[in-house]
Amino acid sequence: MVNYPKVKFVISKKKELETFLAFLNESKYRDNKREMNWAFYKPHPKLKILKQKNLSSLEKKSIVVRYINFYYRGNLEKIKKGVLKTKKDWQSKEKHFFNLVDEIFKNHSWPKGKYIAYPTIWGMYPRYLKDKTFQFPYHHKKKNFISVIIAHEMLHFIFYDYLYKIFPKYKNPKCSFKIWNISESFNILIQNSKEWVEIFSQRAMSYPEHKDLINRMKRIFDKKQDINYLLKDLLR
Ligand SMILES: [Zn+2]
Repeated sequence: MVNYPKVKFVISKKKELETFLAFLNESKYRDNKREMNWAFYKPHPKLKILKQKNLSSLEKKSIVVRYINFYYRGNLEKIKKGVLKTKKDWQSKEKHFFNLVDEIFKNHSWPKGKYIAYPTIWGMYPRYLKDKTFQFPYHHKKKNFISVIIAHEMLHFIFYDYLYKIFPKYKNPKCSFKIWNISESFNILIQNSKEWVEIFSQRAMSYPEHKDLINRMKRIFDKKQDINYLLKDLLR
C-alpha cells in the first residue's frame, strides 16, 4: 500500500520567532530590506521599532517575543479558525493531489519526514526540505490560496527527493540555485496545468525571472509528459 504523508497542522509561536529571527539575521549578510518591509514591517508596523540603531540582539529578540505574544493574544481565535479551515480544505483535496503526484513521479514514494505545517502571521512562508516542515499564511482573502501553497511545498519535497535519486550529483551545493530554479518552474508548470487548476480552482504565482524557463519546460513537457524526459533535457 502506498504511504502518503499526513500533514499535521501545528500552531507554534516558537516557529514564528525562529522565522523572524532568521530573516533579521540574514540582513547582516545581504540586503533584504525589501523583503523585510513587505513580509514583516508593513503588515506589522509596530515592529518598525526594530529599525532603530543601537538595539542589541537580545533586546531585538525580546521585542519580537513580546510582539508575537501580543498578536497571538489578540488573534488566537482567528488563527485557530484559519488553521481548522486550512486543514479541512487540504484534506478535501489531498486524495486528488496524491493521485496526480503519483502519476507525475511514477509512484515514487514520499520521503520520510515530519510533514508539519505551521500557520504564520508573517508574509514569508519558508520551508525546510530536511525535516519536511513549512509555514503557511493563517488566512488569505483568496479562496484556495492556502491549499495551493501547501500543494506547492509538498511538490518541492517530492521533487527534490526524486531528482536527487536519479541525478545524485546535483546534490552538490554548487547546483542548489540551478535546482531551485528548476523546482520552482516545475511547480508552476504542474500547478497551472488544466487538471490542477480544476482541483484547486486557483493558479500558482510564479517568479517573473522564471518565465523563460517555464516556457522552455512547457515546450518539452508538451512533447512528452514524462518527468525523466524533462529533467534529462534540462540537466544534460
Ligand atoms: Zn516554491
